[in-house]
Amino acid sequence: MRALELQGFNGPASLQVVDRPLPEPGAGEVRVRLKASALNHLDVFVSRGLPKRALPGVPGADGAGTVEAVGADVDESNIGREVVLYPMRTCGVCPACQAGQEVHCPKMAILGEQVDGTLQEAVVVPSTSLFDKPVHLTSEQAAALPLAWLTAWRLLFTRGGLKAGDSLVLVGIGGGVATACLLLARAHGLRVFATSREAAKRQRALDLGAEAAFPSDGFSGQVRQATDGRGATAVVDSVGPATIDESFRSLAREGVLLTMGATAGPKVELNLARLWFKHQSLVTSTMGNRSEFGAMLHDVQAYALVPPVDSVVSLEQAPSAFERLEAGEQFGKVILVP
Ligand SMILES: [Zn+2]
Repeated sequence: MRALELQGFNGPASLQVVDRPLPEPGAGEVRVRLKASALNHLDVFVSRGLPKRALPGVPGADGAGTVEAVGADVDESNIGREVVLYPMRTCGVCPACQAGQEVHCPKMAILGEQVDGTLQEAVVVPSTSLFDKPVHLTSEQAAALPLAWLTAWRLLFTRGGLKAGDSLVLVGIGGGVATACLLLARAHGLRVFATSREAAKRQRALDLGAEAAFPSDGFSGQVRQATDGRGATAVVDSVGPATIDESFRSLAREGVLLTMGATAGPKVELNLARLWFKHQSLVTSTMGNRSEFGAMLHDVQAYALVPPVDSVVSLEQAPSAFERLEAGEQFGKVILVP
């Protein structure tokens, strides 16, 4: 089978399509024939050696496809099932796993980071990674869901505690998590504002249900104006140093800054005095538990949500797709079809 291998840490230049033997599922595992995969910023970071994974390895956390083989102890009725994959592997036996808090499993691994991922024709995963594909989505759309939508769901609802009527600012709309936040927040009855340097992305955000979309420079003033001077309940900032100050200035008293990534680098300067005088919080999250993956898929189906797809490319076109993500040019998910 064809697989996209990462053979070094020089970014897109280190990616190569190779032939690999078809993997056989062991006990408790299944082999899924992938119909589509999606890229995450994680894949870009890993291709640059952040972190340095074992080489050669196959990137990709997101996948949708059909179960085609099962190992010992797995029900054969799974064969033929149309699935999307929970993007992490966990031990299943530690106290965190037993409590359904897989994000705290000390042996947690992300597909494509510590173990081979989905940018290939077939992948072997534990049977506990299988979830039914939402019926209203194509495989390409379903492949856009796993890591970004799981991260967005946990960030907004479990960690952020957001609810109908709250106001939310999405800084730098365009990436997978931000667009997932937009659609999930609208479905849950939140008011959503977006920011982007690019007029075309601001228009896309409006088309997807944002109440208003502002240019990036000094957006906090416009957020305050749109919220009768109060500021927003929450801001999702996944950019980092360039925007964090404006993000905090956009928040209401007792507002929450939510973050799950930092595309411009993880080190920021914080004015703590401004935080405590306004009783504001910084709340972080990344990925999510199996139960949250199920809840996210339930919402996608119940509200008939369709994840925005930026582009669909072949494995051979992967290097240019990585470059597109690295440059932040995309709106929605970049999908690979093996
Ligand atoms: Zn565990």
